[in-house]
Amino acid sequence: MGRRRQQRFSDSDNRDQGLEHQLTADYCQSLLFHPHQSYLWAPERKQVLERTMISPFLVLAIGTCLTNSLVPEKEKDPKYWRAQAQQTLQNALRLQKLNTNVAKNIIMFLGDGMGVSTVTAARILKGQLHNSPGEESRLEMDKFPFVALSKTYNTNAQVPDSAGTATAYLCGVKANEGTVGVSAATQRTQCNTTQGNEVTSILHWAKEAGKSVGIVTTTRVNHATPSAAYAHSADRDWYSDNEMPSEALSQGCKDIAYQLVHNIKDIEVIMGGGRKYMFPKNRTDVEYEMDEKARGTRLDGLNLIDIWKSFKPRHKHSHYIWNRTELLTLDPYTVDYLLGLFEPGDMQYELNRNNVTDPSLSEMVEMAIKILSKNPEGFFLLVEGGRIDHGHHEGKAKQALHEVVEMDRAIGQAGDMTSQEDTLTVVTADHSHVFTFGGYTPRGNSIFGLAPMVSDTDKKPFTAILYGNGPGYKVVGGERENVSMVDYAHNNYQAQSAVPLRHETHGGEDVAVFAKGPMAHLLHGVHEQNYIPHVMAYAACIGANRDHCASASLAGSPSPGPLLLLLALLPLGILF
Ligand SMILES: [Zn+2]
Repeated sequence: MGRRRQQRFSDSDNRDQGLEHQLTADYCQSLLFHPHQSYLWAPERKQVLERTMISPFLVLAIGTCLTNSLVPEKEKDPKYWRAQAQQTLQNALRLQKLNTNVAKNIIMFLGDGMGVSTVTAARILKGQLHNSPGEESRLEMDKFPFVALSKTYNTNAQVPDSAGTATAYLCGVKANEGTVGVSAATQRTQCNTTQGNEVTSILHWAKEAGKSVGIVTTTRVNHATPSAAYAHSADRDWYSDNEMPSEALSQGCKDIAYQLVHNIKDIEVIMGGGRKYMFPKNRTDVEYEMDEKARGTRLDGLNLIDIWKSFKPRHKHSHYIWNRTELLTLDPYTVDYLLGLFEPGDMQYELNRNNVTDPSLSEMVEMAIKILSKNPEGFFLLVEGGRIDHGHHEGKAKQALHEVVEMDRAIGQAGDMTSQEDTLTVVTADHSHVFTFGGYTPRGNSIFGLAPMVSDTDKKPFTAILYGNGPGYKVVGGERENVSMVDYAHNNYQAQSAVPLRHETHGGEDVAVFAKGPMAHLLHGVHEQNYIPHVMAYAACIGANRDHCASASLAGSPSPGPLLLLLALLPLGILF
């Protein structure tokens, strides 16, 4: 133990001497519980202890106490678990009656980089934000009746990126990493391999079928995920012409922001970040006047906002907005087209969000659904929690997990505003990350807390959350950094990783697909990722497979199925 640490933690070292004796029940009690507070208080207290005066032994002692005392009283009774399982069984049995209605609406939530370990950790975080131990809590997506796994590899990559995967789950065709809205015949950065290899998305199919369509994201609206819905680009990084090589420009390829405004001119709702790509080079940003990096980027001198407005029919109401106040004061019933760009680049992390200028993802989703659901033909909405991925890349697990919690809130919001009878909702991720949590943490341990023991090798404590690689790799004096010396519960704490990398990488394992609503049961096993939009299109009777729709529409919508109709008519003698 170094001298500096001895000085800093001398208080806790005194306490340790007392802990060298046996851990009695009384001692556990005094360590963990305030006489007038419930057990729920204990994890917080443990966290405070961990952060302020930790010694490895103290962590171990508290951990041991917690495992004995943190079991919620009701969970000690087998009746609790049996009743809970029986209820789940009844719910599962009801699913044998399949929902084969035609999906009037489709909502797709895409958590960028939201692997299964991220979902579990976010669930625990959400529970802990509500003062529960956390493990038993349920995300909105957890309540979806059908779950499948999605194989995320790109045609040329075992561990994929967000562009090739977006092409798969939006266009129904697997593609090369780094490319959007084109088949695997297109090579990244090679503009001249684009033409003839364009593939269209479910947003396009929905538009053709007369539905309203929308895109809501927390990244820039021309980022990889949303761009596969409307663009065809050999390179996801061609945000504006400023980012394109001269060769690609001379070969006639267009940047993604340009395509957003020109390819499908009547997308009803577009919200996210990305203002700077819409304006001529060096145009001052409306919000960050002094920030040179926020200025317009376009070399062609176009003002894409003006172009966007000019394409809208005169009698329709189109609104361009750039801040939260404008969003919240909109009357959705008088808005036909909405373009909201709330940041020059990506939007802020939810934890850092400015509540005056930046709406939350749920606020954007609420407005989007209000506008889109005016169409009697229904709508397709793509919602991206786009910065889960960024939090992970930076090794900032707390940022990433709070992004998931906010997206989950938006999923609940959408669920409240729609019906499973006519709305298919799919929640999935494009790919995972090398994010993990472990270390035999006790029940209710802060998801950002420490494992209850020290390493038996380097004798130092470690956080439950770790990354396989990334910027959190830190060696101090030739040894792994002692995490008790740093504020590992800070919003921007970078969790330790095994391999140093400036940017943590994606993970290659399957991701989950959660589904509810018409035909959700078709997402039922281990699927290739490009299967997903085929199911959504089938459910909505748009795109390629529509043969089944003729019989479904006979029975009306929502459809009880022709057989039920027949049975209903029997007593009336109509058929005989
Ligand atoms: Zn990424």
